[in-house]
Amino acid sequence: MFDAILIEKDEDERRVALGQVEFPALEDGDVAVDVAWSTLNYKDALAITGSSPVVRSFPMVPGIDFAGIVKESRHADYKAGDRVVLNGWGVGEKHWGGLAKRAQVKGDWLVPLPDGISMRQAMAIGTAGYTAMLCVIALEEAGLMPDMGEVVVTGASGGVGSVATTLLAAKGYRVAAVTGSLNEAGYLKDLGAASIVNRAELSETARPLNKERWAGAVDVAGGMVLANVLSMMKYRGVVAACGLAASMDLPTSVAPFILRGVTLRGVDSVMCPKPERVAAWDRLATDLDMRKLESMVAEVPMDDVIETAPRFLKGDVRGRVIVPISPDLG
Ligand code: NDP
Repeated sequence: MFDAILIEKDEDERRVALGQVEFPALEDGDVAVDVAWSTLNYKDALAITGSSPVVRSFPMVPGIDFAGIVKESRHADYKAGDRVVLNGWGVGEKHWGGLAKRAQVKGDWLVPLPDGISMRQAMAIGTAGYTAMLCVIALEEAGLMPDMGEVVVTGASGGVGSVATTLLAAKGYRVAAVTGSLNEAGYLKDLGAASIVNRAELSETARPLNKERWAGAVDVAGGMVLANVLSMMKYRGVVAACGLAASMDLPTSVAPFILRGVTLRGVDSVMCPKPERVAAWDRLATDLDMRKLESMVAEVPMDDVIETAPRFLKGDVRGRVIVPISPDLG
């Protein structure tokens, strides 16, 4: 039996509490992992609070990511003692997740943790940071370069936004950090933001086209914020859209696409093919300033995870929240 956070549901009631889980014997291709660190991501907050139906089966152990050490393997690529990281694949939604002492998943879902990243750092990065890296790679693949103009990052003080701001600034991009948390301006400047934009400026009804401001964008907000960002892109600008912190809607027009040749590139981390995951983690190992990463991190013990989750939905979280599960593992 392993300690875990458990979400249970029957016809009358939904309960979330610390509990214990037991796993079946490993099948071919499966790997059992002793979890060292996990995290709280926006999606985990949705799962724990039940404010969006991200959990597809009950009982569920939430936690869309974890870093740990292989305990037992029936997958050719892994052996006991390997350091691994997992992001997505429906873990914490359809399959028991990382907020537990033990995780049991398909070996194909794991990524070997690159040398140079500790398991704690891997979860300081977490799914938010890995998604930020995918967004930066998407902008690069679309041809964006630092001399083309400023890049805007929305939800900048959150997990994806903090890592995206840090990565882009380190690559020489001038980053405009959009935030609703103006008290975090100092934090964002320390991560490398060149300018701070009040989120309120991007929350009014978007015109089809507005003054050209940005060559690139990483958007975690969706909704009116993304509609405004699209209307303000420079000619042939590119937007990597990964989130819905403001809204699932997109109240825009085709004007930015047909009159300015703007590219809207969707970024999904959950089902992202393995070679792209490995490439993103390798880039994080070399490109991310680990001292800046440390400035983003707050540690929340397992006992406090459930009461911390609602803060994500109020936008009341700075950077990354990591959860020590068995931190003595490394
Ligand atoms: P966080 O909660 O850490 O950060 C989200 C940030 O968005 C907040 O800190 C806040 O930043 C801003 N925000 C909050 N409310 C609003 C609002 N109403 N309008 C505009 N901005 C708002 O979440 P993450 O960074 O981990 O995730 C961000 C989004 O990306 C979420 O929607 C998440 O589901 C999605 N996501 C998608 C992935 C994918 O694979 N596509 C993977 C990971 C995350 P500030 O105060 O600075 O404005």
